[in-house]
Amino acid sequence: MESNYKNIIKNAYKSASLIKDEGKIATYIPELANVNPEMFGVHITKTDGTNYGEGNNLEKFSIQSIVKVLSLSLAYKILGEQLWERVDVEPSGAKFDSLLLLETNKGIPRNPFINAGAIVICDVLISNLGDAKVEFLAYVRELSGLPTLTYSDKIADSEKATGYRNVALCNFIKSFGNIKNEPSEVLDFYFDMCSLEMSCKELSYTFTFLANKGKTLEGKKILKKSKCKRINALMLTCGFYDESGEFAFKVGLPGKSGVGGGIVALYPNNFAIAVWSPKLNPHGNSYKGMHLLEEVTTHSELSIF
Ligand code: GLN
Repeated sequence: MESNYKNIIKNAYKSASLIKDEGKIATYIPELANVNPEMFGVHITKTDGTNYGEGNNLEKFSIQSIVKVLSLSLAYKILGEQLWERVDVEPSGAKFDSLLLLETNKGIPRNPFINAGAIVICDVLISNLGDAKVEFLAYVRELSGLPTLTYSDKIADSEKATGYRNVALCNFIKSFGNIKNEPSEVLDFYFDMCSLEMSCKELSYTFTFLANKGKTLEGKKILKKSKCKRINALMLTCGFYDESGEFAFKVGLPGKSGVGGGIVALYPNNFAIAVWSPKLNPHGNSYKGMHLLEEVTTHSELSIF
């Protein structure tokens, strides 16, 4: 991988470009339907700082649920192990916006990456920060090295107008007492957080701290090594909703997807990679993105297994 990683990315991109994309763009957030479905990009950033991209890797897109890894990392940094009293660490085996298991689990979401869990994480951040929206943005700006990064009002407003399932989830969890703040405030932060836009290049750079024992490429310590280990374990077991097993089986890396068609994956002590193709498979994960990552780990022989 060391010297030929660019060729591996180039070939995987070419091969994934040729497949018949059977995916469908997400339309339940009206603004996401306006994206060109043919966009396709990939970018890898290694922990030594070298990086390489192909296709539309410099174009910004809506990162959606990928942000849930960053919000979890901040909440975990603040609360430590106490956090797991509010959210569990088990795969859900259900769709990302499912309400099903909340009833039996008395309002404790199965994990922080399904919508229910990410909404509880937003509640934790609101309770523990002065102005959660401002401070979370500052945290992501620091990680990404993008001082002008900001929420997209267009995307957030589009989801605020149509996000009935998330409203239901938040109110349902509140009924069990696992949301401490006003549901409207929690949801407002949740929708803003999901509206962040980044390119594959920016995302792969941002996520290197999780491949680099908790340090940014500039050497700034963000998270303890042991906490990184746990977040990577959650990405592996829960990062792709009811397709997490399949991703581990085919790709073999910790990762996280979003309905904007982005996927981030990482190989500890080596690299973080981001891919974007907006058409999604029935599980809500990028159809071509999954294919490309499978090619990369197959040809590099780099999987954590
Ligand atoms: N904002 C989206 C939602 O709450 C995020 C879902 C996703 O990316 N899977 O439905």
